[in-house]
Amino acid sequence: MVNKSNIFFKTDKISVTFVSLRFKNMALKQVKKISNNYNWKSSLTIYLLLILFISACSSVKLKTFEYPKPVDTSSRVIDYQDKKTYSINDVVFADNQFDGARLNDFTQLNDSTFQATILPENEPINPSPHYAFRIWSKQSQTVYLKLNYPTSTHRYIPKLSANGEKWKPIDSVAYQLIDSAKNALLKIKIDSKKLWIAAQELKTSKEAANWAKQIANHKDVRFKIIGKSKLKRNMIALDIYEGNPEGRDIIVVLSRQHPPEVSGYLAMQSFVEELLKDNRLQKDFRNNYRILVFPLLNPDGVDLGHWRHNAGGIDLNRDWAYYKQEEVKTIVNSIVEKANESKSKVILGLDFHSTQEDLYYSFSDEMHSSIYPFKDYWIGAIDNAIPNYTPDDQPFPLSQPISKGWFYKQFNAESLTYEIGDETPRDFIKLKAEVAAREMMKLLILRN
Ligand SMILES: [Zn+2]
Repeated sequence: MVNKSNIFFKTDKISVTFVSLRFKNMALKQVKKISNNYNWKSSLTIYLLLILFISACSSVKLKTFEYPKPVDTSSRVIDYQDKKTYSINDVVFADNQFDGARLNDFTQLNDSTFQATILPENEPINPSPHYAFRIWSKQSQTVYLKLNYPTSTHRYIPKLSANGEKWKPIDSVAYQLIDSAKNALLKIKIDSKKLWIAAQELKTSKEAANWAKQIANHKDVRFKIIGKSKLKRNMIALDIYEGNPEGRDIIVVLSRQHPPEVSGYLAMQSFVEELLKDNRLQKDFRNNYRILVFPLLNPDGVDLGHWRHNAGGIDLNRDWAYYKQEEVKTIVNSIVEKANESKSKVILGLDFHSTQEDLYYSFSDEMHSSIYPFKDYWIGAIDNAIPNYTPDDQPFPLSQPISKGWFYKQFNAESLTYEIGDETPRDFIKLKAEVAAREMMKLLILRN
């Protein structure tokens, strides 16, 4: 099973605690000596000061880290899109006047073809061109709509909705790639009712807050606003445990550093919901561990319809050594504070993302976290539990200042980037996240 000697003797915090214990013994002797000579008030004051000193010694401090190739995460300028309704001859309209929208221009190419132009918040940037807008017409008609990316390449299969809440991928016969797969052409029916078209289901900061508050109806969940983003949107957190969290190991769940990565966000939601079921396994787990959930790390980027960056024009997942961006700074301070508050060790950090395929970015084998080799058991257990699915484990060494590296360097914690494919069927995302949560709980309970 999991190697206990690695679990218990590898962290900085434990060695600090041993040092503190030595100080404590010395301090107690000193207090005894003093109390023989002075009145009880002065010895009480000295004792309290010593206690304060000891607790300061045993706390974890946020560190900054060096990487071979440093990344400059100082803020850069972003372009804001014009929020407006585009009108073509007062018959066909398109707009981007809602949170999460992205539409940079809307024009007519010929009688039956319209063009939606999509641009990023700034450059250079990853090719993840998010789009979201509404289109309608005074006359019912079937039209062609070109998704035009002057600086990038089409990535996301369009999702359609009548209300911005229930979404369906476009019928494959009504959608094709054009211009050597750079752009896309859609065939759609439009009428006076607004048709929503987006790269992924629309999940704004409002949706994340509503979800988190609803989750917090469970007695073991505390909903907290832990700070503000660069543009003063709320940074939200869920703190999950039953009873007294003192001394318990912590698991951290992160999501949505990158705005269009909705499939990863959906996995995070199902994962957390599974932890909150009221079966024996889940209750035992919540009785033995503390779970910190940060459902939306980049609320500004999400509401501004960004492709990847925050309002500081930075990829947040390159700032986990420097903390120059408000969002990363808020999250790392919150994690360190919670760990100190309950005198806990952070043992596992899971960061939910999306990419082309489902996979797990894990540590390469020479990296031994405090719960090594948890990852191999976990991925093996997920493999066993889901028929006809083989998890794709992609270990790699630490080379960039990403969250995964931070968990390892700051806490010697295990960490994985849990990646979901852009177009992975939504029911499979849910199934896999539930299995992953259950198998994690089983393994960690065995360890305790
Ligand atoms: Zn990502």
